[in-house]
Amino acid sequence: MSILERRLFGPGPSNPYPEATAALGLPLLGHLDPAFIALMDETCDMLRTVWGTDNARTLPISATGSAGMEAAFVNTVHPGDVVVVAVNGLFGQRMTDVAARCGAEVVAVEHEWGQPVDVERVLGAHPSPAIIAAVHAETSTGVRSDIAALGAGKGDALLLVDAVTSIGGIELRADDWGVDIGYAGTQKCLGVAPGLAPFTINDRAFARRVEKPHSWYLDLGLLGGYVGEAEGRGGGRTYHHTAPVAMVASLHAGLARILDEGLEAVWARHEAAGRLLQDGLEKMGLELFAAEGHRLPELTTVKVPEGVDSAAVRRYLLETHDIEIGAGAGAYASSVWRIGLMGRNARPDAVLLVLAALQDALD
Ligand code: PLP
Repeated sequence: MSILERRLFGPGPSNPYPEATAALGLPLLGHLDPAFIALMDETCDMLRTVWGTDNARTLPISATGSAGMEAAFVNTVHPGDVVVVAVNGLFGQRMTDVAARCGAEVVAVEHEWGQPVDVERVLGAHPSPAIIAAVHAETSTGVRSDIAALGAGKGDALLLVDAVTSIGGIELRADDWGVDIGYAGTQKCLGVAPGLAPFTINDRAFARRVEKPHSWYLDLGLLGGYVGEAEGRGGGRTYHHTAPVAMVASLHAGLARILDEGLEAVWARHEAAGRLLQDGLEKMGLELFAAEGHRLPELTTVKVPEGVDSAAVRRYLLETHDIEIGAGAGAYASSVWRIGLMGRNARPDAVLLVLAALQDALD
């Protein structure tokens, strides 16, 4: 089977860093081999850096970002707990579904799509929630929300944050911002293929966890042994499930690539690329969808001009230029495009390429 090399400028996955792709081809190690255990330890250390946390319980969960979401709720929601969810797009909506399945009494705070989370409204939605949940970077709308402000006002509640599209792309400081539980994905700004969910939980949240959650695979109590939590770094491991060895090696390589460049430099590179794209789109006469002042640099939402067939443009870009961009999400499927510049693709040459190709498609 021959696979074309596409430029992945959609909402994810993005084109991985070459180092992350190369690592997939390394000789496979056994999942309890000391060399793999050292690799896992280093991976967890590097994850702490990109999360901005000292949490001992920081690990790559063996499945995609949605499994991180499941792990977050299934381990922390006790039946009947009030969970306030800020809903300003598709992934906030998904959180309400997952939390309800875990037995939460969900208080959904709905927002107009394209707007950031209204911190006052979310904090005032219930007098004593067990959990307040929000998406840092809403991939469905291209909007960034103020997690630090939620953390500052959370009171006794746990703050649960989706960082799937923010990690490794924009400023993220889990500990400074009061994030108690966070989950992410590898396939966006971390520049690694989809398949793992970087996860972190602090002592405060872990102490309140569900003792025997309704998921064996995602039970954080059992997963402690998987990453040698009791024994510390380099310590013994108990078998829980077979680690996806090649994916962890790939994540290790991607994280090393990011930290070699410098995390803040990587954030700055995403910022510069995103602003260049957004300026370029506006110069072409196109209108951006996300609220000004809250636009993500790594994921730009742009309105499809009147009379243009959005799917035909995306098809043309794919067939003529090997470029993928995303359709809008939900009700905006045919009226918005989503253009991602994540990880390796957050570069000026990628911006010029996508702008030129889009202009060609519209001509
Ligand atoms: N949350 C956000 C903000 C996302 O963008 C995504 C995926 O696009 C997810 C959660 C779900 O992650 P996955 O598709 O890797 O399961």
